[in-house]
Amino acid sequence: MRAKFALAIWAMAAPLATEAPPAQGVEHAADAACAQPVNANGARPRDYHPILQSCVNDAGARKLATRRMVLGAEALLLTVDPDSLATSLERARCWRCADTSDAAEADTRFMRALKKPEPTPATPKVLEDAGLSRGAGEGVFVTGDLCPSRRPLDRDFLELLARQGPGTPVALAISGLWIVHHADELDWLKQQAASGALNIVWVNHSYHHPYVKSRPDAQTYLLTPGVDIDAEIFDTERLMIANGITPSAFFRFPGLVSDAGLMDRLRERHLVALGADSWLALGPRPRPGSIVLVHPNGNEEAGLRIFSRLSRQGKMPRPFRSLNEAP
Ligand SMILES: [Zn+2]
Repeated sequence: MRAKFALAIWAMAAPLATEAPPAQGVEHAADAACAQPVNANGARPRDYHPILQSCVNDAGARKLATRRMVLGAEALLLTVDPDSLATSLERARCWRCADTSDAAEADTRFMRALKKPEPTPATPKVLEDAGLSRGAGEGVFVTGDLCPSRRPLDRDFLELLARQGPGTPVALAISGLWIVHHADELDWLKQQAASGALNIVWVNHSYHHPYVKSRPDAQTYLLTPGVDIDAEIFDTERLMIANGITPSAFFRFPGLVSDAGLMDRLRERHLVALGADSWLALGPRPRPGSIVLVHPNGNEEAGLRIFSRLSRQGKMPRPFRSLNEAP
């Protein structure tokens, strides 16, 4: 014990006692840390704010940073690969970043995914299913919404997905209040991802997910008077990061309900609005390219039964694809 302590003192004192700076050693240590995934261990990042920067690292990778934050003593970036749309949490000191703009990045796949549709005179005030509701090509994009719920996670559905093959892609739209009340089930989901059983894209589904059944759509969901859309976006992202899951470039409006103002705010925050052309419990059947919507949060068993039946009957288009391939 005493020997170890003495060694530690010597190690701290050594750089002070020598003239030659251990520059190479320090760089090597930084490189090793840069390759390690960031682990928040439950701590919520602070000083969380939106940015748009173009970043490169020593390996020549280029990413766009859309959020900057501080976790412990470390500045972090939430980044998106402008070609693959994959997101990752990075240590800021491992990247060289400069401010950029939507216009300067307009040719990237990411900016094309965010592109604003041309308004038409017929555009209604309340938008239903605005944004990305289908993808190109074969197969389907399976998405499951985890709206706030007192009921347990439908593990059977996720196990059915996992049985389709290793790393079956699924996008889970997760609300802040679901995370708060389902810690064990979130851990189970993370295990499915870590083991390679599922390839999960985590979609922000707002923090509070307000909903009052008796109100018209124009006054509920995120159109509820007084809703702070930035808080709904950022508080959920911070909670996701604290819990070790990385927010994707997608946001799903509760009820798929929005308006032009909410769509504009989402674009400003560099998030792609995620709709669905096949909300199974409401009837529309999947076809190639469909974004399929179910609720594995215990609140919509009918949709899961339809999913299971269509899969058994071979009526669910294959393959299942990652949501990042849809835009
Ligand atoms: Zn929902």
